[in-house]
Amino acid sequence: MSKVRVRFAPSPTGALHIGGVRTALYNYLFAKKHGGDFLLRIEDTDQTRYVEGAEKYILDALAWCGISPNEGQGFGGEFGPYKQSERKEIYKKYALELVEKKQAYYAFDTPGELDSTRKNHEQSGETFTYGPLNRETLNNSLSLSPEEVQEKLTAGIPYVIRFKIPKDKTLHLQDIIRGNINIESNTLDDKILFKSDGMPTYHLANVVDDYLMQITHVIRGEEWLPSMALHVLLYQAFGFQPPLFAHLPLLLKPEGKGKLSKRDADKHGFPIFPLNWEDKTEGTLAQGFREAGYFPEALLNFLALLSWSDPSGEEIFSLDELAQRFELENVSKSGARFNVEKIHWYNGQYLQKKSSQEILPIFENLLREKNITSNPSKDLKVIESLKERASFVSDILEEGMYFYQSPKTFDTKAAQKVLGEKTPEIVQFYLELFASLQESQFTFEILSEKIKQGITDNQLPMGPSMQTLRLGLVGKMAGPDVALILEILGKEESISRLIFAKQYNLEG
Ligand code: GLU
Repeated sequence: MSKVRVRFAPSPTGALHIGGVRTALYNYLFAKKHGGDFLLRIEDTDQTRYVEGAEKYILDALAWCGISPNEGQGFGGEFGPYKQSERKEIYKKYALELVEKKQAYYAFDTPGELDSTRKNHEQSGETFTYGPLNRETLNNSLSLSPEEVQEKLTAGIPYVIRFKIPKDKTLHLQDIIRGNINIESNTLDDKILFKSDGMPTYHLANVVDDYLMQITHVIRGEEWLPSMALHVLLYQAFGFQPPLFAHLPLLLKPEGKGKLSKRDADKHGFPIFPLNWEDKTEGTLAQGFREAGYFPEALLNFLALLSWSDPSGEEIFSLDELAQRFELENVSKSGARFNVEKIHWYNGQYLQKKSSQEILPIFENLLREKNITSNPSKDLKVIESLKERASFVSDILEEGMYFYQSPKTFDTKAAQKVLGEKTPEIVQFYLELFASLQESQFTFEILSEKIKQGITDNQLPMGPSMQTLRLGLVGKMAGPDVALILEILGKEESISRLIFAKQYNLEG
């Protein structure tokens, strides 16, 4: 087998969708697995849909994810340029070659003519396709004489070049994921390949480039499956060996039915784009996975397992491990439901793998956003004590806000349960104990021991005494071990919270 070469070929028509990230990932994994090349090609032939900033966004998003092409737009290589608008000259020659071979033809139908033909068909309950069964009746070089065609071309009448789909053929196509697919050629339409403004359409440019860039496998989304027959026929018409095809399943809504859209993502509160995306025409800002606190490793692991699974059933893999295990044959045919809980779970798994030091800068950013001054040694302890239960770094701060803001009120239900006759005595005991300790003695170990000892010596009830302390410090029944809370808050803050609680009448 020749060297594996695959490509990710997005169109810069907006932010890269999460489905696009999955396509890039699967191409990347496949190339890595086979020691091949992974290219980035920008397909910007449709200038009407071009969106400013979209190309840079694609590059930034891939960089954040850690999916790095080893060739292509922005990465160099011998098969460039890798941006289709810079390859315009190449395509015309190929379009004309097909006209020459009588595998394509000029069509002069105006948009108005096509519209009225379409309407006539609709009136008689039919759908109009410009194809093998009717092309000879339309305004093109198959129905006009060579002189008429020449005349129109010389006069500069706008034209398109259409592919001549072979008539009455059954096509036998192969897809690595979907197996055999048979298609009757008469159901296909003569797609436009080239326009007189000098621009090729996606179909022509895609096939020509995949050929010239020596692509061996085309791995792309299911929405391109209907184009596969046309593409294979184009390769055949040129006399090129077609690449192998693998069409990835659709990403579905969390409910399971229908294609995942931005609206579904908004509804369920998860992002759909890897990075923040500002839509200048709409004046909206969509939050990205990065900004929402997802780790790129978690996102990739989740996406990898969204429509592929390892026979071992294992679920946590680094990018390198994924590349070793990935097989296109194990990609599922059916649509992949976006499971929100699962991606949160993945994020949590990757959060647990990170050291508190690694989490610290992200945590400090969150503190800054809330105008809270950071104190690295305290912050590290907060992270350490709450990390285990968190899926996102922001969960740690949300959960542990009481480490930064002293309670102003106390959970009444908890107070009713915990407080009683002994409360004044309990609070007094703590205040005296804490006052007697040096700041340096405010450690988890010393505090645990002294508190237990003191409660026993003073014949206070263990449960209520511990709970009262927690309620006084936190305002509710939450948080890690109370001795750890004390250590993190420090002597002064712990005492002042208890005094406040006492004044607040925590003593019942
Ligand atoms: N430019 C197409 C897209 O935006 C690429 C399709 C393909 O990979 O052939 O999805």
